[in-house]
Amino acid sequence: MKLLEQRILAQGKGLDGGCLKVDMFLNHQIDVDLLGEIGKEFKRIFADCDITKILTIEASGIGIACITAQYFGVPVVFAKKGTNKNIGNNLYTADVYSFTKGITTTIAVSKDYLSENDKVLIIDDFMANGKAAHGLINIINQSGASIEGIGIVIEKGFQPGGDSLRALGYRVESLAKIKSISDGQIEFM
Ligand code: 5GP
Repeated sequence: MKLLEQRILAQGKGLDGGCLKVDMFLNHQIDVDLLGEIGKEFKRIFADCDITKILTIEASGIGIACITAQYFGVPVVFAKKGTNKNIGNNLYTADVYSFTKGITTTIAVSKDYLSENDKVLIIDDFMANGKAAHGLINIINQSGASIEGIGIVIEKGFQPGGDSLRALGYRVESLAKIKSISDGQIEFM
């Protein structure tokens, strides 16, 4: 997606350790018009899928998933980090190692909001090692729902998550795929 690549080049900051900071438009301040274009693009790519629900993980995935969901006309469910009394005990849970925080957290989705009748599109902001996506897949599998695809805004192609999920047969589509981040220079695939 050219518009997205241009924004990454103009405002993204490549950090040491392969981390990309896009706080100017995606992860802290949010450019809602850009999210609209991202949502439209996901709808165009997954137009052949009969999606009933979009699943994401808090926090950064939520805004992207909500705007995308408007184009599909379906609800968003987001996996909550940590189990707490607010969502009760009727949960699907999975453990996820966080690339950015370096810790493992339990994520949870209420069994009320995902069932075997659902056809799910996973949406997230980044794909690095695929831990978040695997956690969401684990939860969807517990529910018996089907996984129609995985839509990622920025995939870091120099980390193994995307390709390892493709090798497992999942349809992973990313809107920008980064080849390398070196000395602050960002190069696309
Ligand atoms: P993974 O689970 O694929 O290893 O990492 C994906 C998750 O970690 C995403 O949900 C995202 O929030 C975070 N993440 C991974 N890499 C980056 C990055 O380079 N920049 C930012 N802002 N978040 C990242």
